[in-house]
Amino acid sequence: MKLLEERIRKDGIIKEGNVLKVDRFLNHQMDIELFQEIGKEFKRRFEGKEINKILTIEASGIGIACITAESFHVPVVFAKKTQTKNIAGEVYRTQVESFTHGRVYDIIVSKEFLGKGDKVLLIDDFLANGKALEGLAALVQDSGAELVGAGVCIEKGFQRGGDVIRAKGIHLESLAIVESMDEKTGEIVFREQAD
Ligand code: 5GP
Repeated sequence: MKLLEERIRKDGIIKEGNVLKVDRFLNHQMDIELFQEIGKEFKRRFEGKEINKILTIEASGIGIACITAESFHVPVVFAKKTQTKNIAGEVYRTQVESFTHGRVYDIIVSKEFLGKGDKVLLIDDFLANGKALEGLAALVQDSGAELVGAGVCIEKGFQRGGDVIRAKGIHLESLAIVESMDEKTGEIVFREQAD
């Protein structure tokens, strides 16, 4: 998605440890007009697919998921990061290793909001090692819902997440794929994608 690539080039900041900061427009300050274009692009890429729910993970996936959901006319459920031990049976629960914080945490979704008959699209801001999407996919599987696909705004193609998710047979759409980024020069190379 050229618009997103241009914005990453203009406003993205490369940090040490393979972290790309996009706080100016994606996950701190949020450019809602850009989000609307992102939502339309996800809709275009999953055209013809039956989807009745979008699942994301707090916190930075929520804004993008909500605007995307407007294009699909479906509700959004976000997995909560938690340390509280809910009574077994109330929630689906799995563990996720955080790329940005380097620790493991539980994510949960209430059984009330995900289950058999749901056709789910996963949405997140970034794909790095794939742990967040793997966790969300595990919740969908546990619930008996159907996983239709996953959409991420930015895939870091030099990390393993894209391969991990595609190898599981999940239909993955990444709007911008960063092939490489250089902290010193600020240069970012994107993977060419067919329209
Ligand atoms: P993964 O689980 O694929 O390793 O990492 C994805 C999650 O980590 C995303 O939900 C995102 O919040 C965070 N993340 C991974 N890489 C980056 C990055 O380069 N920049 C930012 N801002 N967040 C990232």
